[in-house]
Amino acid sequence: MSNVGKLIVISGPSGTGKGTILRELLERTGATFSVSVTTRRRRPGEREGEAFYFVDRDTFAEMVRRGEMLEWAEVFGEMYGTPAGPVRKAIQDGKTVILEIDVQGGLQVAKQMPGATFVLILPPSEEELARRLCGRGTEDQESRKRRLEKAAEEIDTAIRSGVYNHRVVNDDLEKAVRKVVRIVNEESGNE
Ligand code: ADP
Ligand code: 5GP
Repeated sequence: MSNVGKLIVISGPSGTGKGTILRELLERTGATFSVSVTTRRRRPGEREGEAFYFVDRDTFAEMVRRGEMLEWAEVFGEMYGTPAGPVRKAIQDGKTVILEIDVQGGLQVAKQMPGATFVLILPPSEEELARRLCGRGTEDQESRKRRLEKAAEEIDTAIRSGVYNHRVVNDDLEKAVRKVVRIVNEESGNE
């Protein structure tokens, strides 16, 4: 038995409830969240270094150039990436690390980290996804439209890839949280 930790990648369309599930997951398991770097603007209530590190485009490009990103992608016109150093260190220290990233990024991770686990969070329906995005109130109409258009494509890519072998429909939140907690515990060797 090695003491090396596990990497768990959680993806799914914007508005599916990844962030909501993740908050519960981190409370109920000993897993660590990998804080991404992004060029998108900070939303009200978001604090630097919590969900994201907020940087400008030049800084992001420099990090990519130096090979500091485990993966990175352009999502809705903004850059998002996972700093590799903290992830590799946490795994070496035996921790379970959670990445909440888009499918393009997930597929890059699949190539580099063959032992990782991939979870796709699905909305119960397109209509419900539209309602959730609207209810969250963080995007304008144009941005919501783009997110909805991308949703079907992202799900399709994830399923076709064969990489996302765990799929959780986020209909009843508590049930969805329990399913993801079970996956994380099983993969971490806690069950
Ligand atoms: P994501 O991180 O995938 O973009 P969020 O976690 O921000 O999505 O969730 C989008 C909205 O949907 C939020 O307002 C959240 O409270 C709501 N939501 C999440 N899960 C559920 C659920 N199971 N049922 C109803 N609403 C939900
Ligand atoms: P949001 O800006 O709504 O928080 O996130 C938008 C999208 O970017 C989501 O699909 C989220 O999973 C994705 N994302 C967040 N961080 C990263 C990252 O580090 N890498 C990649 N590839 N996608 C990310």
